[in-house]
Amino acid sequence: VDNHSERTFPVVELFGPVIEGEGPLAGQPTTFIRFGLCDSRCGMDEEGNFTLPFICDSLHSVLPNLVKANARQLTTQQIFEEVVQHASGYPWITFSGGNPVLHQLTDLVRKLRKVGFQIKVETQGTLWADWLAEVDMIVLSPKPPSAGTHRAKNAIKETAFYEQAMSDSLYRNIGVKIVVFDGSDLEFAVQYVDAVGAQGVWLSCGTRADDTRDTLGERYAWLCTQALKAFEGRNVAITVLPQLHVIAFLHRLGV
Ligand code: SF4
Repeated sequence: VDNHSERTFPVVELFGPVIEGEGPLAGQPTTFIRFGLCDSRCGMDEEGNFTLPFICDSLHSVLPNLVKANARQLTTQQIFEEVVQHASGYPWITFSGGNPVLHQLTDLVRKLRKVGFQIKVETQGTLWADWLAEVDMIVLSPKPPSAGTHRAKNAIKETAFYEQAMSDSLYRNIGVKIVVFDGSDLEFAVQYVDAVGAQGVWLSCGTRADDTRDTLGERYAWLCTQALKAFEGRNVAITVLPQLHVIAFLHRLGV
């Protein structure tokens, strides 16, 4: 018998409340739960070697050996109690990763929503799970070319994910967020939005490990100009933002 209450989940980080830096809730307080493990290997080849300047900013929650070293194995009840302590009366809780959809989080979702929390799930959109139909918001972040994921393989899954979310009559609150570093990422954003027929998209100006506020400002100015051109005449609601937490805190974690 599978005893749900004894099941544990790899929690790499649980922090907050912090002010959300990007996507549909940018500027609002949220408490983050970062779950370990990811089915994508952005910026890596099949052998796990880094092949691109892009490096996933959450490697500690992706690579199985680092997850093992960093994560605490917590039950639903333990996660729930920590969230209540952290959230300080703010309603939004973000499930992030890695890819949180790898885990069976139905009980946690129900428990948190029962006491009035609202749940946002951040995922790259490669896997669907039934419990996603019970959360308050999904932020789908398909990975652009600069992330070096295997585009051909992922594109079909990400499109199917969007369609699945939209086909559930109970569920419509899905935001597409795409991180853009350069022209080919922007082109990908246009193609993705066209492919799924999204009515809006959040374009998040990418941050590199050696960025200063000045270089971020320059890239953001570039993105504002180019995004206006790229989406011209398409009737898509675009929101163009820098990653606000990086503007505020640069590269500090957990803020
Ligand atoms: S999908 Fe996200 S968490 Fe997973 S490897 Fe890519 S950037 Fe990292």
